[in-house]
Amino acid sequence: MLAQRISLLSGPGTAAAREAVAAAAATGRHIIDLAAGEVIIEPPLSVCEGAIAAIKAGTNRYTDSIGLPPLRKAIAEKLSAETGIAWDTEDIVVTAGAKQGLLDAALAVLNPGDEVIIIRPCWPTFSSQVLLAGAKPVFVDARPPTYIPDIEAIRAAVAPHTQAIIINSPNNPTGAVYDRATLQAIGDLAVNHHLWIVSDECYSSFVFAGARHESIVMAHPGVRSRTILVNAFSKELAITGWRLGYFAAPREIVSAAKTLQSHTTSNANVIAQHAILHHLQVGDGRFEREMHQRLSQARNTGLLILSGLQHVATPGAEGSFFLYLDLSRLISILPAGGPLRSTDDIARFLLAEAGVASIAGNTFGDLNGLRLSFGAPPDLLELGLKRVVETLNNLKKKQTAA
Ligand code: PLP
Repeated sequence: MLAQRISLLSGPGTAAAREAVAAAAATGRHIIDLAAGEVIIEPPLSVCEGAIAAIKAGTNRYTDSIGLPPLRKAIAEKLSAETGIAWDTEDIVVTAGAKQGLLDAALAVLNPGDEVIIIRPCWPTFSSQVLLAGAKPVFVDARPPTYIPDIEAIRAAVAPHTQAIIINSPNNPTGAVYDRATLQAIGDLAVNHHLWIVSDECYSSFVFAGARHESIVMAHPGVRSRTILVNAFSKELAITGWRLGYFAAPREIVSAAKTLQSHTTSNANVIAQHAILHHLQVGDGRFEREMHQRLSQARNTGLLILSGLQHVATPGAEGSFFLYLDLSRLISILPAGGPLRSTDDIARFLLAEAGVASIAGNTFGDLNGLRLSFGAPPDLLELGLKRVVETLNNLKKKQTAA
């Protein structure tokens, strides 16, 4: 019999969409994948060159469990430049992707019975990790059209056992980018109630149309001693499979992570560590600029196509690389008793009828949403979104005829 903790975990999360795409494609159908949480682009040459050089140099051994000191130093310098706040090597932990950083944070600060506030819609791993640590997720819903959380709703969720709040801006799946006032208010709450803040900023380089990403430690410098700032190279350098992330945190958390990682994964992959170090040393920012330019264009194209939707508002999509649709109005006008009643049904219908993979909001704890990625190759994105618009606009007609 399996341990109870396994049954606490939410299903495979966004991985379920990956499996559905693979299953549909295995039948020989050409599926346009707008479900993936990654940008489909070749990574920077400097990363690959760094990896090849490390392999050729015979780099095969364990590293310090929280990463190579020169890499931690380079990350500290990058983060200092990005935030305007000084970080040094001792503040940084190198992890196997943001996911491990988030798990370290949960295991380091949560005890059984603690509560953790999570803003919903949310990436499903947040709550699963909180549960794994024996604590309880407490959700606060952020509502359309902005999906910026209401600070009074967060305040109302704070209880005697609240130990931490997890925020994620720019947000997966909604694309919301939290404004300074919201971050400051969350910071004040955390200070007043002695909460840890876990700030997942792994989409920090993806902000568009004049939006600006600000880390909570920039908006509210007083929270630095209670913040675990998690980030990764996975999305930023289009290397999700390389598994390289990091976090910056107070020394007690760094020290806890050193112990935790030494007993779990030992260290993040040494070749990936050298590859990123090389990129941070020689990269000229061209890859990052070109990727941003491509995504910016893709977002504009996407929003233009989606403006053709009849019962669905065009999303804000200020950050991350997701177009998050609120389908509540569309669902409300579909005939009662018809086969399509939920966003899960609609996502399945889009896959079956239009050959387009998306992710239903249910995955993120939101019954009304549908996530479409504009990280897909531009030609496929355009074709896929046109099919989505046509299919959704004809949904009512089709259901009535059926
Ligand atoms: N945090 C958020 C909000 C994500 O959306 C994802 C991946 O989709 C991750 C963390 C995981 O990042 P990594 O692949 O670096 O572990």
